[in-house]
Amino acid sequence: MGFPRINLRGVGFVKEWHVEDAGGGCRAFSEVLVLVCEESREIFATALPLTWDDGFSLEEKACNQLTGLMEKAGVQKNDRLVVCSGNIFNTFQHWLTESGYTWDIGKMDGLAHDLAEYFFHTQAVQAGFPPELQLVERNYREYYSLIEKWIGADPGLQVFWKDRKVRRKPAETRYILKCNGGHSRSCQQCRQKIRPYSPVVVYRYRENGHRIRRYFHPACTPVTPLKSTLETFVANWNASRFEGVILNARDEKRTCLICGQVVGPGDRTFYGYIDDQLIVGHPACFKEEKDAVRGA
Ligand SMILES: [Zn+2]
Ligand SMILES: [Zn+2]
Repeated sequence: MGFPRINLRGVGFVKEWHVEDAGGGCRAFSEVLVLVCEESREIFATALPLTWDDGFSLEEKACNQLTGLMEKAGVQKNDRLVVCSGNIFNTFQHWLTESGYTWDIGKMDGLAHDLAEYFFHTQAVQAGFPPELQLVERNYREYYSLIEKWIGADPGLQVFWKDRKVRRKPAETRYILKCNGGHSRSCQQCRQKIRPYSPVVVYRYRENGHRIRRYFHPACTPVTPLKSTLETFVANWNASRFEGVILNARDEKRTCLICGQVVGPGDRTFYGYIDDQLIVGHPACFKEEKDAVRGA
């Protein structure tokens, strides 16, 4: 049990913080996030970057920046938070619950809302957007389309577009279709073996600072990956055709089934199966079929 908190605010004075965003619906300029205490007029604001490459989703990025604001603002565990319902706050709301904060979903109005809109507008004006073209009666579509048309018309302003790829739903961007290497994996869905040198869907995420990987058969993945590095190859051999994959060989000292030469480390190498027998060789030594199908 802790002692009652005693600080400059006095005992038992609980602040109410409003968390709002603006600009998420516009294809240009950064989303603005604000943390505001109306009573004390404390205002904290941050803008997401236009793009990033650290693997975070939009919701995670927003959460990280908001927890930073909360630290700056000195938000206390017994303060109350009122958070806008937007999807951008999904991870943040989850984090608040996990961390034991008291919070509610708020409606979009009040000082926090006006400030978020104002900061978003200011970004555009600083880039040269006519200040008199403002949001009128919450007609966001009209306002955002004015900004987008203005950006679209000037090649010098293209740097202000949001990177939509990094803002896509996290699930899809975290699954990747690729080729399993020399290790067999266990499928997270059916619990069966995923054999070496066969197509696999890898799901990567972070939990408590650890990078975690889960593996699925392509037929078992719950989410269709947006990205693929899988290269398939249909080999013709002994009057039969079989599909396999192309990978750069490691130092495996395997020999090509056709020419008998060793496949060296780094060599593009074909791996396929006839029944359960692994077949290895130089792609050039097998006759490739032109109608090779991607995926498996
Ligand atoms: Zn499976
Ligand atoms: Zn060969």
